[in-house]
Amino acid sequence: MRRYGHAPCRREEEERPDLALRKRGVDPDEIDTVILTHLHWDHCHNNHLFPRAEFIVQKNELLNAVYPLPKFRGMYETFDTGTIPPWARQKTKWRIIDGEQTLCDGIRLLLLPGHTPGLQGVLVDTAEGPRLLASDAVPLYECIEGLGQGIYGISSLCDDLRAFTRTFDRMRELRKEGVEIIAGHDFLTLERFA
Ligand SMILES: [Zn+2]
Repeated sequence: MRRYGHAPCRREEEERPDLALRKRGVDPDEIDTVILTHLHWDHCHNNHLFPRAEFIVQKNELLNAVYPLPKFRGMYETFDTGTIPPWARQKTKWRIIDGEQTLCDGIRLLLLPGHTPGLQGVLVDTAEGPRLLASDAVPLYECIEGLGQGIYGISSLCDDLRAFTRTFDRMRELRKEGVEIIAGHDFLTLERFA
C-alpha cells in the first residue's frame, strides 16, 4: 500500500481470507467459484489461496486491467509499473463473461460500472431479503447515506463519472425495491458479519 501512497496498513494473521474461511468451517481448497468484482490489486491479490476455483470476471474489466487510464495503473499493478499484475500471477481458471447473468439460483451478477468499467456487484437472495454486495461501487456506507434523496457519494476513484452516476441511479431503484446494499470497504460490514 505504501508503494502507491496509501496510508500504512496492517493485517492480522486471522484476517487472511483462507484462515477466516477455515474458522467458519470452510476449506478454501473446496471453493470452486470466486466472483471477482473487479481487478484492482486489493480485490485479487489472494486469488492463489483458492487453487481449485474458477474465477468469474467481466470481459470489459479484464481488458481494462491490461490497459487502464494512466491514473489507475497502480491500482491494477499493470505490467508497465514494473510488476506482474496480481490477476496474472497464478494459474487462474477464468470464466470470462460479458454482461449480467444469473450465476445460480439466488445469485445474480449486476453491472455497476463507474469505479472501473467492468465492475460487477453480486445480488444475493438471503433469508433476510435481497442484498447487493456492491464492492467498490460503494466503499463506505457514507457514500449512500443520501441515496434516497438523490445525493450520491461517488468515490473519487472514478473511471467514468456518468457511468458511476447511472450506477447510483440504479442502486437507488434497487433500494426502493427492498435491496439492502452492502459496502465493500467499510469496517461496519466486517463488524456486522464477523
Ligand atoms: Zn477498486
